[in-house]
Amino acid sequence: MSELSNIAYVKNLLEKYGFKFSKALGQNFLVNPSICPRMARECGADKNCGVIEIGPGAGVLTYELAQVAEKVVAVEIDKRLLPVLNESLQEFDNVKVINADAMKLNFNKLISEEFENMEVCVCANLPYYITSPVIMNLLEQKLPIKSITVMVQKEAADRICALPGTRNVGAVSIAVRYYCEPQILFKVSAGSFLPAPKVDSAVIKLNISQNPTVNVIDEKMFFKVVKGAFCQRRKTLINSVSFGLGISKSEVSEILSEINLKQTIRAEELTMQNFADLANKLSEKYN
Ligand code: SAM
Repeated sequence: MSELSNIAYVKNLLEKYGFKFSKALGQNFLVNPSICPRMARECGADKNCGVIEIGPGAGVLTYELAQVAEKVVAVEIDKRLLPVLNESLQEFDNVKVINADAMKLNFNKLISEEFENMEVCVCANLPYYITSPVIMNLLEQKLPIKSITVMVQKEAADRICALPGTRNVGAVSIAVRYYCEPQILFKVSAGSFLPAPKVDSAVIKLNISQNPTVNVIDEKMFFKVVKGAFCQRRKTLINSVSFGLGISKSEVSEILSEINLKQTIRAEELTMQNFADLANKLSEKYN
């Protein structure tokens, strides 16, 4: 265990470099000593594996990852943390810190340049203001990675990991499940962070599937249908898809009959295969 989860040590280190937390960048640093070793263990990294970390902060998770993985590349947007990381990670020669915005980075290029002949996984305590965009961005790029293990707000974890057909399911649950098998690993209380956020968190793991979990003719149409289906949660699927995709209710109604779904069905009742069938019918009609 590193000193980086000792509050007094981290406060001193940050003070030494005149660092002040930025709310806008989602800077809540982990100070519970049991979390990072557990994340590093459960993300599946080993000595044949490279890890991409997004937002290393003061380096508390990076420190643990560097001990289990062959190499860690940590992407941090905040320049002010570079001297902090330089000091906190000085004992490792298998860590590289890149000053960049994870939302704009070409991860395919990064992987081919930094992780030749290694398996790669992602492990991060994500800045909460971009949780879903970062996850979707990583998944949509179809990167050669085996898993994504990330700390997110508890509510986001519940939403992302919700099973189709259950109350919590939303567009992001279906979109994520298209690419992988998500699971909640463990919960983390708000008091584990400095400064403490208002809500609890959870660590989730997304095991990337070799192939999409359902066959679709056109991925763009699939995601358009998923987004449209959940755009008006309280309405029936006929209403929300018709509104979201700008097609007539009678056309949606006809397709529902063709794929044997009841006319009153709502988005949260659909299975992954139902979404694929609906998207494929629409692709056949409109492409
Ligand atoms: N990993 C550290 C920990 O667990 O204590 C810090 C986690 S903190 C929740 C999120 C980190 O992500 C901060 O260091 C923040 O500066 C960084 N960050 C925010 N937006 C980012 C972006 N777009 N790209 C890369 N890093 C970002």
